[in-house]
Amino acid sequence: MDERVLIRNVKVVSPGTETTVRDVLMAGGRWSFPVQAPEGVRVVDGTGKILLPGLYDMHAHLREPGREDSETITTACEAALAGGFTGLTAMPDTVPAVDNGGMVHSLREIASRTGRIPIEVAGCITRGRLGQELAEIGEMQSRGAVMITDDPDPVANPQVLRRALQYARGLDVLVATTCDVREISGAGAMHDGPVSYRLGLPGLHPCAEEIGIARDIRLAQSCGSRIHIRGISTARSVETIRRYKSEGVAVTAEAFPHHLLFTDEAVGDYDTLYKVKPPLRPESDRLALLQAVRDGVIDILATDHTPHTWFEKTRDFGSAPFGMTGLATALPAIHHHLISSGLLSWEILAERFCAAPRRLLGLDVPVIAEGSAVNAVLFDPAAATTFTEEALKSRSQNSPFLNQTLRGSAVLVLLGGEIMVDRC
Ligand SMILES: [Zn+2]
Repeated sequence: MDERVLIRNVKVVSPGTETTVRDVLMAGGRWSFPVQAPEGVRVVDGTGKILLPGLYDMHAHLREPGREDSETITTACEAALAGGFTGLTAMPDTVPAVDNGGMVHSLREIASRTGRIPIEVAGCITRGRLGQELAEIGEMQSRGAVMITDDPDPVANPQVLRRALQYARGLDVLVATTCDVREISGAGAMHDGPVSYRLGLPGLHPCAEEIGIARDIRLAQSCGSRIHIRGISTARSVETIRRYKSEGVAVTAEAFPHHLLFTDEAVGDYDTLYKVKPPLRPESDRLALLQAVRDGVIDILATDHTPHTWFEKTRDFGSAPFGMTGLATALPAIHHHLISSGLLSWEILAERFCAAPRRLLGLDVPVIAEGSAVNAVLFDPAAATTFTEEALKSRSQNSPFLNQTLRGSAVLVLLGGEIMVDRC
């Protein structure tokens, strides 16, 4: 397909270049900035809209193979495109887990056949994600795995993680850890504080995350390895990362949009749609996290898209699984709650959600420049999106935005010479 689209008078936000308002032409799968409109092209009015590179989610649970009742690669790609994402990294906590080269190979092959956008594959750190023996790290890398992670579980045994970090350093594989000292978090269901006491729910104490983060980064420092920390949710976690960064440790950090948007008060009357791990925290943590996204201590935003069937997610609060979907909603939700009120800029969003994750994984970073390949989303802040089941696109509906309306919509998603989403 070779569509030709001229977007007139649009605000172009592209990492590394100054934001400008201009006319932009997609033709032959490449960008150009024509002085005059060519004949016979489709013209889209970009006035008031933002054109930014396609988003990249380096943390999505796609559930295929094994749990296709909650998501498939096909449905996850549709949810991603609806939310302006043009690339994903699939987490390896499938059934069976992606812990060997053969699984990486076959999942990549399935994804290239059934997904509408490029999907990278992450492998496990440990065999079966059991935290005991190392997975086939070299073999997975040679078959195309872009990183290793046991998410949503931590590597409980520090000596096992140490060996993984040493091994990964030699191969230059990215190790991404989820930090949670299970002896502390135990059977906790939400943030440990006044709201959990009022609801009578077991708490997840912030020490479980904070001690885990300090431990994992210290191990990486001692091994001389790089490390990526997932799901930062507290102010103290931010300060630990800030300190190690200032010491020159190669640590990168990732936060999820829901921790920037909600606090533990959102759990309200035992609403399981807000049951996530790490849990939603108090306002002081939310504000510290937002500041860290602005100042770069948090390098990357990722959705932690975690689909669950309605049956699973509507159990009682204590036994419902952790996690919410996020692919279709992340961009409009961040716009609605943060960008439209000036709390976050488009430039920072494009860096944290488009450029930084691709750079970290060694993927091409799309830009909107004369002659560069087309990979972009046109966002209309004036359009509203109501997140019906249909609009969420995912096979699962466990989103706190279900049946809510948010300001803003990804009205065009363009990849190569193709229009992937067209709501103009
Ligand atoms: Zn996750």
